[in-house]
Amino acid sequence: MLISKISPSFRVNNFNFGAQKQNQKVSFVMPYDTVSFTGKVQEAKKPELKEKTIYIFLGAPASGKGTQAEKLAEELGIAHISTGDLLREEVKNETEVGLEARKYMDKGELVPTNIFKAILVKRIAEDDCKKGFILDGFPRSEEQAKMVDELNKKENAKIKVIKLSVDEDKLLDRMTARAKVQNRADDTPEKLKTRIAVYNGVRDTLVNYYGDKVVDIDANQDIEGVKSQINKTVQEDLK
Ligand code: AMP
Repeated sequence: MLISKISPSFRVNNFNFGAQKQNQKVSFVMPYDTVSFTGKVQEAKKPELKEKTIYIFLGAPASGKGTQAEKLAEELGIAHISTGDLLREEVKNETEVGLEARKYMDKGELVPTNIFKAILVKRIAEDDCKKGFILDGFPRSEEQAKMVDELNKKENAKIKVIKLSVDEDKLLDRMTARAKVQNRADDTPEKLKTRIAVYNGVRDTLVNYYGDKVVDIDANQDIEGVKSQINKTVQEDLK
């Protein structure tokens, strides 16, 4: 019998129970046996990194890097930092940085690093980055890759690049679906093409820069399929 906690509910084999069932006698029939138990379900131990690790998610827009980065961050209990999200927040709040960044974002172009560098540096210094963090959408140029190295000089955390590869026609399909839900100004087919071209333009530079730190993931698969490939490579980083 496999009992696992999927907060705030728990699971026995493939049966899910709500939190209200905890500490109560549970009895249920399964095809081959009848199982009952009482008592607290132990919190599953979170996987722990052997050393501070910076995961860099590299992929075209709509490659699923945001989704996968969020899942991995949750699993490892580390920060998920998306420069796209940081910038969108600035735009929303109409800060000086946001107003400047918007000019580039609306066209699907890269925002010059000096405009938002201070915001990123401040974010990386926060407590939830102490054990490691995920960079989603950064670096996007060799200059930015060098900036990561510079910021990492003191601590020398391990760097692993998770590169999500997706066929271009799939990217366009996914983007069309996402545009309907998120209503992002830069999610139109035309701007997407610019953003894919921007990504393609720098991809090989970054792959060369990081060399054997890059792990290639076939991200044409569904969310669970991609996640399991990522989990496989992360496994070697765990205690
Ligand atoms: P994303 O959500 O990662 O697709 O980013 C949305 C937009 O934010 C990009 O098209 C850029 O305009 C801007 N942006 C995000 N990250 C960066 C970055 N590392 N360097 C420059 N611009 C960025």
